[in-house]
Amino acid sequence: MANRLSADGRHQVLLLEAGGKDWNPLIHMPAGLAKLVGVKSINWSYETEPEAELNKRKLYWPRGKVLGGSSSINAMCYCRGHRKDYDHWRDLGNPGWGFDEVLPYFKKSENNQRIENDFHGNEGPLSVSDLSHTNPLSEVFLDAAAECGFDLTDDFNGERQRGFGFYQVTQKEARRHSTAQAYLKPARSRDNLTVMTHAACEQVLIEQGRVTGVRVNHKGRTIEIKANKEVVLSGGAINSPQLLLLSGIGPKEELAALDIECQHDLPGVGKNLQDHLDVCLVQRCSQKITYDTLNDLMVGLNYYLFKKGPGTSNVAEAGGFWQSPLATDDRPDLQFHFVPAMLDDHGRNRIKGSGYTVHMCVLRPMSRGQITLKSKNPQDHPKIEANYLSEPHDLELMLAGFKLQRQILAAKAFDPYRAPEVFPGDAVTSDEDIIEFIREKAESIYHPIGTCKMGNDDMAVVDADLRVHGLSGLRVVDASVMPTLVSGNTNAPTIMMAEKISAKMMSQ
Ligand SMILES: Cc1cc2nc3c(=O)[nH]c(=O)nc-3n(C[C@H](O)[C@H](O)[C@H](O)COP(=O)(O)OP(=O)(O)OC[C@H]3O[C@@H](n4cnc5c(N)ncnc54)[C@H](O)[C@@H]3O)c2cc1C
Repeated sequence: MANRLSADGRHQVLLLEAGGKDWNPLIHMPAGLAKLVGVKSINWSYETEPEAELNKRKLYWPRGKVLGGSSSINAMCYCRGHRKDYDHWRDLGNPGWGFDEVLPYFKKSENNQRIENDFHGNEGPLSVSDLSHTNPLSEVFLDAAAECGFDLTDDFNGERQRGFGFYQVTQKEARRHSTAQAYLKPARSRDNLTVMTHAACEQVLIEQGRVTGVRVNHKGRTIEIKANKEVVLSGGAINSPQLLLLSGIGPKEELAALDIECQHDLPGVGKNLQDHLDVCLVQRCSQKITYDTLNDLMVGLNYYLFKKGPGTSNVAEAGGFWQSPLATDDRPDLQFHFVPAMLDDHGRNRIKGSGYTVHMCVLRPMSRGQITLKSKNPQDHPKIEANYLSEPHDLELMLAGFKLQRQILAAKAFDPYRAPEVFPGDAVTSDEDIIEFIREKAESIYHPIGTCKMGNDDMAVVDADLRVHGLSGLRVVDASVMPTLVSGNTNAPTIMMAEKISAKMMSQ
């Protein structure tokens, strides 16, 4: 948004970021993501409330608190989802959001390093490339998928999404290409763009139905900043609804309960929370070829000196989109990520030895959660109730997907590498036991959306131009506005939305 809005010099643009600059070298070395997940200085490190259907566990929700937001700590998989996801958005009452209408904005953002065809852009700011180094086991994973009868593909974002293959990644010359690097860095020298870091917006200021500015905590000092034209919230799927609520924009009764003066009664703020719930099957490897066995120092040296080797890997190298036997249309309802290392607790629990992991998540869950305030102190984290698996259909899909995970890892291609299963373990075979394993081990794969949903029904927060209903001068442009989850990772779709809305704003 900051790049596009400041491009022609007509407007003064101020970007406020609660976190700091993206100086940490682990951000830029792709494999650094394995370490970043627990680095508190650049991570909001949220936790959900105890999840009723997940054995009352609190789930860890990392989110980037740094320039580039979560694109500075994510796994870099470049996926757009299925074309029908966007046609669905349009059909929900959001004109302009059908696939044919959003494709030009995906292409505008993209600089694909390999693929040149009608589905891809080659001149945009965001570099999308193939991985320069992959682990041999990722190839084995694809052989195993093919052996199971699943199609292979070399492009999840082309004519057909379905299939297994290597992910393309948001990397430029083997470095992470976050939104901060792709969009902000080239615009930083513009006189009409100011970037303030360690500047946490705490309130949107409203005068007679018009948003006139923001109240900001800048390094401990409170300041008010006026906006002549508009305020755009891009705080993400958790923070944007939190900020609206703190500003008195939300469900009247909820605000009253916290003694927050209601500026604008908008019942949908914080509701409609959706996320991809994911479960990992972890298998030991009989050969020392996985990333668990690498020497971190050697990986770092090889990377920083030569830009080569495992340091260039996004770790979740290969994967796939497939339909479960329960699929209701021709869209894949499951996604897989293969990691040639043993993964537990988001990588925070390093298991000794060598092994590999297959992730599986349900792409379009029916369960809905919510973000509400715990207090009116902006520095308190909001309350996150994901309500995972509150719809039994989602659990049935997880079970069906788990069986495909096992099927792939049991394929002959893995015979030379297979050693005992770590999670859930060979003893877990009945549906009841697998379900218990899912309840005990499933985690977020980091795609919360929907908490300021776009639409024109009573629970919609923004309209199809992402303007907050009932107020002027305020938009929300981030993953929170997606009305339903896309069938894939959420970074590229969020960037597409920013391209589309900034173009609209600049044309006005
Ligand atoms: C660990 C991880 C792995 C992921 N892997 C992938 C992947 O491989 N591929 C993919 O497509 N997607 C992935 N995602 C998701 C993707 O990165 C996000 O969907 C995308 O970044 C958009 O998120 P968002 O809109 O919620 O905002 P974010 O990207 O989280 O950005 C919000 C920004 O606003 C700032 N902010 C928040 N509140 C305030 C405030 N009050 N004042 C000022 N600034 C504020 C935050 O610090 C942050 O910089 C991953 C996410 C995570 C966390």
